[in-house]
Amino acid sequence: MDPEKAKGEPLLPSLGEMFFQPLEDWLKAENEKRFRLDQLAEWYFKRPECSSFEDCGNLPKALKEKLSRNFAFCSLKPEKALSSRDGTEKNTLLLRDGLRTETVTMPMDGHTTVCLSTQVGCPVRCRFCFSGRDGLKRNLTAGEMADSLRLALPKEGFESLNIVIMGMGEPFFNYANLKTFLSLCQAKRGFNIGSRRVTVSTVGVLPGIVKFAEDFPQMNLAVSLHAPNEKLRRLIIPGAPSKISELIPALKSYFSKTKRLVTFEYVMIEGINDGIKEAGELARLLRDLDCKINLIPLNDVPGQEFSGSPEANILRFEGKLRECGLNVTVRRSKGGEIKGACGQLAARRGEEDPKAG
Ligand code: SF4
Repeated sequence: MDPEKAKGEPLLPSLGEMFFQPLEDWLKAENEKRFRLDQLAEWYFKRPECSSFEDCGNLPKALKEKLSRNFAFCSLKPEKALSSRDGTEKNTLLLRDGLRTETVTMPMDGHTTVCLSTQVGCPVRCRFCFSGRDGLKRNLTAGEMADSLRLALPKEGFESLNIVIMGMGEPFFNYANLKTFLSLCQAKRGFNIGSRRVTVSTVGVLPGIVKFAEDFPQMNLAVSLHAPNEKLRRLIIPGAPSKISELIPALKSYFSKTKRLVTFEYVMIEGINDGIKEAGELARLLRDLDCKINLIPLNDVPGQEFSGSPEANILRFEGKLRECGLNVTVRRSKGGEIKGACGQLAARRGEEDPKAG
């Protein structure tokens, strides 16, 4: 049940859904000056500390009141923020229909990385991931993604910002809204984030990979692979949307169009995909592809059916890939004690690790 409707309040369109043409049209219909659009964009995209129309200092009172009667400044309500010792912060955000989304903000080597979600729940149901346990609830709108980003930005400012679309959901199953949001990220009068600072992670939705190469050829693509062969991949990702035999040619074609290296994400699961045999198989699978491999230690979470690989297995796996000439890194675990790691953003409420508060 929609909490706002339940209270009998009208559900106003949110400002984040209105950039840029619909807002320009509305201002024109209201006989407002065109430069008001730029002022509103400045408050929305460049001033994350601004949280209401009332805060937009250079707008006339009458326009602020009119905007407040017609739009919600933000479609999300921050519920709680958890901070870990390494500075990682996880925010739970209440959507207007009572569902929840989450963001993770990570300070890293002089820049800030924000991890965003694109869906509530996920239809892919990777077996190591809490996000997919209940399947898909719904897609996030572009405005909700923009509001999530605003709320995740450090209010005290930041030197440089990276965006990773690796939170809850499969981004390419929500391509239209993702495209609108990424366009707002790129736009000079929008968030104005350089394309090379944006990474979108997919589990292998082939039509999405083709469209992404056409629409955002300068952005980065990450692919959740997690296994070197089809049988093992199906065990880990029962809902994988493509076969490895289709995925690899699609990524070769992606590289020939964009000249951007693909990053493969590989979650390290003890006794399942972390053996020397799997490392050799992975090296053979990827040897002709321009790519990087990112090994991700799986955080151990109570109730999870898989265990994370011991460090010795990760080092051995990494060594084998290097020996075969592959470009490999091991992701530093960020926000482990608040479950800020990939695929663990959205543990259901009530199932949360006691350490997460
Ligand atoms: S890891 Fe990603 S694709 Fe897999 S279930 Fe979780 S959110 Fe979905």
